[in-house]
Amino acid sequence: MKTAIIGYPRIGENRELKFAIEKYWRNEITENELLEIAEKLRKDQWLKQKEEKISFIPGNTFSFYDGILDTIILLNAIPKHYKDLGLNELNTYFAIARGYQGEKGDVKALSMRKWYNTNYHYMVPELDDYAEIKLNADKIFNELEEAKKLRVNTHPSVIGPFTFYKLAKTTGNKEKKEYLTDIVNVYVELLKKCNEKNIDWIQIEEPQLVTDQTEKDIKLFEEIYTEILKNKKDVKVLLQTYFGDVRDCYKTITELDFDGIGLDFAEGRQTEKLITEKGFPKDKILFAGVVNGKNIWKCDYKKVLNILNNLKGKVENIVITTSCSLLHVPYTLRNEKKLSENILRHFSFAEEKLSELKELGELSQVLWENSLEKVQENEFYVKNQKIITSEKGMEDKEIRDTVKKLKDSDFVREGARKERQKIQREELNIPLLATTTIGSFPQTKEVKLNRSKFRKGEISKEEYDKNVFNFIKECIELQEKIGLDVLVHGEYERNDMVEFFGENLAGYIFTEKAWVQSYGTRCVKPPIIFGDVKRTKPISVLYSEYAQKLTKKPVKGMLTGPVTILNWSFPREDISLSEMAFQIGLAIREEVLDLEKAGIKIIQIDEAALREKLPLRKEDWHKEYLDWGLKAFRLCHSGVKVDTQIHTHMCYSQFEDIIKDIDNMDADVITFEASRSKLTILDFLKENNFETEVGPGVYDIHSPRVPSVEEIVAALEIMVKKIGKEKLWVNPDCGLKTRGITETVKSLENLVEATKIVKSRL
Ligand code: GLN
Ligand code: ZN
Repeated sequence: MKTAIIGYPRIGENRELKFAIEKYWRNEITENELLEIAEKLRKDQWLKQKEEKISFIPGNTFSFYDGILDTIILLNAIPKHYKDLGLNELNTYFAIARGYQGEKGDVKALSMRKWYNTNYHYMVPELDDYAEIKLNADKIFNELEEAKKLRVNTHPSVIGPFTFYKLAKTTGNKEKKEYLTDIVNVYVELLKKCNEKNIDWIQIEEPQLVTDQTEKDIKLFEEIYTEILKNKKDVKVLLQTYFGDVRDCYKTITELDFDGIGLDFAEGRQTEKLITEKGFPKDKILFAGVVNGKNIWKCDYKKVLNILNNLKGKVENIVITTSCSLLHVPYTLRNEKKLSENILRHFSFAEEKLSELKELGELSQVLWENSLEKVQENEFYVKNQKIITSEKGMEDKEIRDTVKKLKDSDFVREGARKERQKIQREELNIPLLATTTIGSFPQTKEVKLNRSKFRKGEISKEEYDKNVFNFIKECIELQEKIGLDVLVHGEYERNDMVEFFGENLAGYIFTEKAWVQSYGTRCVKPPIIFGDVKRTKPISVLYSEYAQKLTKKPVKGMLTGPVTILNWSFPREDISLSEMAFQIGLAIREEVLDLEKAGIKIIQIDEAALREKLPLRKEDWHKEYLDWGLKAFRLCHSGVKVDTQIHTHMCYSQFEDIIKDIDNMDADVITFEASRSKLTILDFLKENNFETEVGPGVYDIHSPRVPSVEEIVAALEIMVKKIGKEKLWVNPDCGLKTRGITETVKSLENLVEATKIVKSRL
């Protein structure tokens, strides 16, 4: 049976592309040198994919920054202000990606948004009044030729017109509709070119289809593709979807003249049902995305073959593929030198997934010609199942039982929130418009040096902690001097809000090289939840306790919430997300109770990433996510006394649509990013009788700019008007760890000064 992949990581096995691009930006290598490195990376991948006998190898998966940005170039939809810089092609490309400030002008980058339900970010296309949409397929065909020279047969892969159209925004006077014909024409032209070049397949990706579609959307999709497919002639068109199922347009897409349809069986909860209930056209090929492209675990062949067995007799032509592009997993296991074979054998990164596809191709052939029983005798199958069913050695029966025994009352905190809030104000002596920060203070050179010395074994844990304590002491003194009301310890013991907790919890493991692209040249290395998660010792208590002893003002304990820890890790696949969230919740709960015991009266549990993994389909929001997510959060704090104040923090303010859920987290205070929004959320809070006290960020921490007293006063006056003085806190948007110390001090001084002014007018 044939095999395919949808896409591949581009950043390089050792992040070669990242480093090369960054060198190019710093003028340390020439354009030609950069192009050569890129070519070599493409070559290595293609040869690898060929070696693993992938039948359908997609071209155009390479990118210097982002695939949507490449689509912008493909459509020649470059906003005028970038063209006006008069830079060469590559530099124009990077100007769009990162902005440009220099002798040719001063332009900002396009904005960036999260790519569906991944941690990848794409550049949002902007269509201005000058846009002259037309095909510019040089990149596609150059790379195709390049592969051909290596005797690798690739087919073009592109983001489709529907998804592009939906993601794009207009910036001029023209309406979006006015661009549609030109956009469609680009794809008509592209197919024409494919025909001229005798290309057999083209892969058109439409992930937008796995989100909720209105009838109007579906009609639009139908119109677009009727036009495109009318012109397709000999080239075969694969409609590729991923990140979910196509439940509301399955019929439409199976009736259109596609030659292949790619569906996701990993995240597409209804994919199998759609096919078995509604049938699949005999004249089309199903590209069955059965190998999970988003997670790092070895594929369970039994599961996959069961799915395929269910499709047997219902689908005539099948190609085995991944559920989405392999962009979202790390490169290879080959370079992980520190983890034991016992652990590594459970994983499969991009390269290893190629081998899995090869084996599954053979196994499904056996299945197609024989039966499931016959497959089970196969050596590949037996070997795979032996690993899948083996104990991983990090099981903890006790913690699993505790989770099972959780009762509804374990998620409910004592005391009604309004009562608690009153008691806390008095007991903790919290003034109106209390000023505070989100947790971290600038990670100065000294702070980073201390950590790196400790990691390299150059200093002992005692020495490391001694230095951390000194940083904390300085931080407390600084905050007192500035005059903040509720202090923090500064988070000098951590460089990352998830990694730090992962490292201190049993059940977590860390890789050396498992980088995944987040955007552009930025990569992240998420920790892996390998076994049952449990706290084995206090994590942050010593630091917080020390900080509190230095001051009479309350110091907030600072923790990361279970949903965020889970969302920024690679999760297990052998137990449910909710079970993992509850395990982490229990661990954080123990930490919360220890902090309380140590005299910490305010505890902040950050849920920076709560919104990130909201399912793509609204009907799944609660049952698949929020129901257990919010419970896991409440589990963390439901054991505290009424006069212990619980804060939470979120890195966004777009929560209109989940406002009730945020209130249901039952925190006493929430701080969130707001300075870049127009504060419309505040009206919403009022209309919905939002009970949690709020600290909408009064200045943007993403830039070194120091906000003036006047602008903070202006923001605060609006906030007081909308929220009321009783419920308002004053704080920056987010943590200060990426900022410099000078600008931080000035900004916070202005924040305190502005608060004084506003308070005097109350
Ligand atoms: N407490 C964390 C900090 O201040 C929160 C970070 C975040 O929300 N991303 O750094
Ligand atoms: Zn934040």
